[in-house]
Amino acid sequence: MDKVRVRFAPSPTGVLHIGGIRTALYDYLVAKQLGGTFVLRLEDTDRSRFVEGAEEYIKEALEWVGLVPDEGPGYGGEYGPYRQSDRKDIYEVYANQLLESENAYFAFDTPEELTAARDAAKAAGNHSFKYDANTRMQMRNSLSMSEAEVEELLETNVPYTVRLKVPQNEVISFDDKIKGTVSFSTNELDDKVMLKADGMPTYHLANVVDDRLMKINLVIRGDEWLSSTAHHILLYKAFGWDHERPTFAHLPLILKPTGKGKLSKRDGAKFGMPVFPLGWKGKTAEDTFLGFKEYGFDPKAVVNFLAFLGWNPGTEQELFSMEELIKEFSLEKVVKAGARFDYDKARWFNQQYLMAADEAELLTKVRPLAKEKGYEVEDAFLAQFIGLMKERVVVLNDFMDKGYYFFEPVKTYEEKPIRKKWKPERLAQFEDLRQRIQQCDPFDAATLHAAIKNFVEESELGFGNVLPILRIAICGVMKGPDIFEILALLGKEEVDTRLSKGYEAFNQLANNK
Ligand code: GLU
Repeated sequence: MDKVRVRFAPSPTGVLHIGGIRTALYDYLVAKQLGGTFVLRLEDTDRSRFVEGAEEYIKEALEWVGLVPDEGPGYGGEYGPYRQSDRKDIYEVYANQLLESENAYFAFDTPEELTAARDAAKAAGNHSFKYDANTRMQMRNSLSMSEAEVEELLETNVPYTVRLKVPQNEVISFDDKIKGTVSFSTNELDDKVMLKADGMPTYHLANVVDDRLMKINLVIRGDEWLSSTAHHILLYKAFGWDHERPTFAHLPLILKPTGKGKLSKRDGAKFGMPVFPLGWKGKTAEDTFLGFKEYGFDPKAVVNFLAFLGWNPGTEQELFSMEELIKEFSLEKVVKAGARFDYDKARWFNQQYLMAADEAELLTKVRPLAKEKGYEVEDAFLAQFIGLMKERVVVLNDFMDKGYYFFEPVKTYEEKPIRKKWKPERLAQFEDLRQRIQQCDPFDAATLHAAIKNFVEESELGFGNVLPILRIAICGVMKGPDIFEILALLGKEEVDTRLSKGYEAFNQLANNK
């Protein structure tokens, strides 16, 4: 058998839905597993939907998750050009072939005439008008008009489209690698436009022609394209390529976190989670989205999560590196039904990756985040900070969001525990504690621990009355890593300042009760 050739064929219309990246991932895994080729093709024939910058964005997104195409625009390859807008002449040749073999015809209906036909059907109780075998003879096309008339229209450059002439009473069946046997009756299908009035092909014609010319032998794509496949097979037949058409694999829909309905672009904002690999800055707020990258996800975790969005290995193993996925992945184990987008699971994956990452790797990731915030710190400090926070973060951004107090003074104090635990009459005792901390030498966690323990015992206050005060004065919050390690890392001077400021703030809080 020929080497497998798969393609990811997005339209550059803006932000790339997570379902698209999942398709690209499955393409990539299959290609790499079988020593095949992963092609990127840009389906940009619908010029009204084309968005500036979308191509670069798609490539950036693919590269961020580690799915570098073997062939594609800017990646080289023998089957280019890989942008459909650069292949207009090619489609024209094939549209003509369809016309000559009488598998297609010229249609001269204007948009107004089409609307009128739709309205007339509606008035007669038919709400889904179809341009098909039942209606085509009432429309203005080369099947219903005389040859002379058609000739004249063509000669006078009246705009036309080319439509596929769908045969009647045939059953189109194919074996989908995921869905099993799928059948459509041609009576359900309309005479789809192949070539538009602007001379550009529609998705259907361009997609089939390119899959053929680019020698694609396995088409992996989302469920929403399943119903188009019947038309595609008709095209393969019309061109005489049916014996060599690609195998199809239609991936399950991605469902909302609630499991109800398809995951939409807007669900990201609605559920406070990313549904795109990378963020996209559109012209309006509505067209601007955050992605997994901006949320602080590790691309390796995103890959792992995406792999499980519709597939599982059938074992207990959940953590898979790209290499392991390449080995283990199989389309046969992809589920038929929709796959629920479980954001908590995505976070869980990321947490596993963060916990498993070595400190040097984390340092290279956290350093720019610190820099972005304007924190000037030594690598040695950052490394210790990472060591302390590592088990407490889920996404990369948590390092700075949850651990900001390692770099700057406490912004707000958690009030509830202070109201409960801080007694102004104990100020003298806490001043004593401050002194004792100042006298620690060396200023390390073990020495601090011993000194604070002594204080707790001698003052008879108990750890429960002392540690919360200390922690909130230093960190502002009750939750966090080992307090003695934090004190040691912040250093004598900083700890002293924070304690003084904290006590003052706590007194004020107590007085404002
Ligand atoms: N251009 C289509 C898309 O945007 C490609 C569908 C297919 O893979 O056939 O998803």
